[in-house]
Amino acid sequence: MIGSGPAGVYTADALTRQRRVPLRVDILDRLPTPYGLVRYGVAPDHLKIKGVARTLRRVLEHPDVRFVGGVGFGTDLTRADLARSHHAVVYATGAGVDRRMGVPGEDLPGSLAATDFVNWYCGHPDNEWDRFALDTEEVAVVGAGNVALDVVRILAKTADELRHTDIPQAALEVLAASRVRTVHLLARRGPLQAKFTAPELRDLLALPGADVVVRPEQVDIDPTTVGTDRAERPELREVSRAARTNLRLLREQAERPPEGRPRRVELHFWTRPEEILGQQGQGRVSGLRVERTRMDADGRLEGTGEHTVLDVGMVLRSVGYAGVPLEGVPFDSDGRTVPHDRGRVLDAEGRVVSGDYVAGWIKRGATGVIGTNKSDAAGTVRALLEDAPKLREAVPDPVPLERVLDERGLAHSDYEGWLRIDTAEAGHAAELGRGERVKLHGWDAYRKALEEN
Ligand SMILES: Cc1cc2nc3c(=O)[nH]c(=O)nc-3n(C[C@H](O)[C@H](O)[C@H](O)COP(=O)(O)OP(=O)(O)OC[C@H]3O[C@@H](n4cnc5c(N)ncnc54)[C@H](O)[C@@H]3O)c2cc1C
Repeated sequence: MIGSGPAGVYTADALTRQRRVPLRVDILDRLPTPYGLVRYGVAPDHLKIKGVARTLRRVLEHPDVRFVGGVGFGTDLTRADLARSHHAVVYATGAGVDRRMGVPGEDLPGSLAATDFVNWYCGHPDNEWDRFALDTEEVAVVGAGNVALDVVRILAKTADELRHTDIPQAALEVLAASRVRTVHLLARRGPLQAKFTAPELRDLLALPGADVVVRPEQVDIDPTTVGTDRAERPELREVSRAARTNLRLLREQAERPPEGRPRRVELHFWTRPEEILGQQGQGRVSGLRVERTRMDADGRLEGTGEHTVLDVGMVLRSVGYAGVPLEGVPFDSDGRTVPHDRGRVLDAEGRVVSGDYVAGWIKRGATGVIGTNKSDAAGTVRALLEDAPKLREAVPDPVPLERVLDERGLAHSDYEGWLRIDTAEAGHAAELGRGERVKLHGWDAYRKALEEN
């Protein structure tokens, strides 16, 4: 298994639960810490969702499962290394990079991917710590998915509201000194097309320290016609139940007058970014020019020609995640996934690559919640078990992974190593008088924990 996020761990779980084919699973990850985006994506204040790590942990502690941390596929080990040490390889490497908006000014300092901000508040060791000074009063977050709402919520919360979470101390201190007062959320389409879910929207609307401003005219939609043939406009016709719940919540919010709370979140539907403006001389974001949009009669998005400038000093884009090609593994550069048939990797001619499988976001793209990866993994495991006799024939005598790692002179960590980081994070929380865990940040802190505890 390459990748110890939910997809990799659920795949290992399904493999070790069955009794038909005796097997052992190595789960490799480039990081010494398991759980992928459960650790480095799920927002720190979503404690209940983060609790899924307790279930994933049981899989890593299974006697037939071994966690091998600090080993990157493509950087440390090749496909050939794994092909001689295992009967099958499942790629579960997620969708690690952000998509771009494709507007001028996107590379200005202060224009960043939500991924960078998420990495920062989740303490990803690759993160650059000085990137987020939060020394501007207005910020725009572009996107209408759950990640965008996470980012808005963290920006709009006070440090006190986050103190009990595992957010790294350095990030908490920057948030405590934050000058951000207004966060604009921009969605190209309307409230019924937004991809965020009702629980995330409820969390945003429940912020005690921020007024969430919904413009009444943007939610002035007759809820009795939505999702029916009677709906007059194309954007009101094919609408899910979840979208109708969002509409109800937004309509209720639009009726609440702002209460003058310290922070303000403004929701702008039907608004797309056109250009990120830079400050003369300093080359830093000084504004965001946007255009109002609408849907044409065929349901296509079009600009209305109405432009405005938001006076923001930072722009965070959250317009989707994309998979990264893996060396020697087929890749669909349009869909940014590994092509497959029920989990079996396919080459450019559509032929099955024997012994190679995929699971999770690298298989189906960056969609769905953590639990979606469980049923997805089950599909891949079904295919792998069907192929098991053939796979054994193809590699009758696999060499131990340790030998491959030794031959390559690769230092790596194990599950015990992760437990040392885990213990150090609990100790760090106790020292600071903060919750159950405070994330260590940076590679040096990880190395120290791996060596010392
Ligand atoms: C910011 C964010 C917040 C989210 N919040 C929620 C939420 O609150 N609730 C929810 O249900 N879902 C949430 N999701 C969705 C959920 O995290 C995903 O469905 C899930 O993590 C996808 O699992 P995965 O295993 O495919 O990928 P990942 O979780 O990304 O795991 C991939 C793993 O592969 C490793 N890896 C990558 N490349 C290599 C390599 N070359 N060699 C070795 N290892 C490698 C990575 O280090 C990582 O550990 C969120 C997603 C994001 C982006």
